Amino acid sequence: MEGSSRYGRQIAFKGVGEDGQARLSRARAAVIGVGALGTAIANSLARAGFGFVRLVDPDRVELGNLQRQALFDEDDAAAGSFKAEAAAARLSRINSTVVLEPIVARVDASNVDAVIGDVDVVLDGTDNFESRYLVNDACRRRRLPWIYGGVLGDSGVSMNVLPDGPCLRCLMPEAPEPGSYETTAEAGVLNQITAIIASIESAEAMKIVIGSPRVRRTLASISLWDASFHLLEVARAPSCPLCGPSANVRR
Ligand SMILES: [Zn+2]
Repeated sequence: MEGSSRYGRQIAFKGVGEDGQARLSRARAAVIGVGALGTAIANSLARAGFGFVRLVDPDRVELGNLQRQALFDEDDAAAGSFKAEAAAARLSRINSTVVLEPIVARVDASNVDAVIGDVDVVLDGTDNFESRYLVNDACRRRRLPWIYGGVLGDSGVSMNVLPDGPCLRCLMPEAPEPGSYETTAEAGVLNQITAIIASIESAEAMKIVIGSPRVRRTLASISLWDASFHLLEVARAPSCPLCGPSANVRR
């Protein structure tokens, strides 16, 4: 069996095993944003043997992306390749058994349901809160798990948004206005923190599709420069329009 040799080290890990690997091979994931986080996430999912990975990003590869966006090279930047397509081409050479679906588009209200409609888990590779809140609300409506991740400077956070747990609006009721928060263009970002947050998101996605009881229910917050790693409890907010008592979506 091809899987036994390709995934031998992963199957040998007790948390995965043969059964977990078989579940991974049937699992469908959508990665929203194929930049620093998204390339590292997609690389991880494809190598781990997810059955299907959708890659959604509107942008083209630029030289300034290569410091941290692991699936691209100078040829992609020179050609101005679309990130979703360049990532899919690279990953298809790494694992031809994965069905890869590049979508060159920005996630918006018109396409979000189609983008997440037929997958088991959604992973956040975006760099903005407008997209995250769209994904949060759409996944909530479908009771679909999604994994929030964000990076800035040397720091990052990640939280699993599970159907029976708190959502992004429980943390912050509304998306911060564009321009009201620092971006990586202003504050910079280290490729080490994107790799860590992407790895956390990918590992949680594996646990979710395998059906592991070890899926994390806290918010992970990491600073590399301070060498700090915190797990914070987050509760469903009674005032949350999606999770509170007046919401249509119930526990
Ligand atoms: Zn909520």
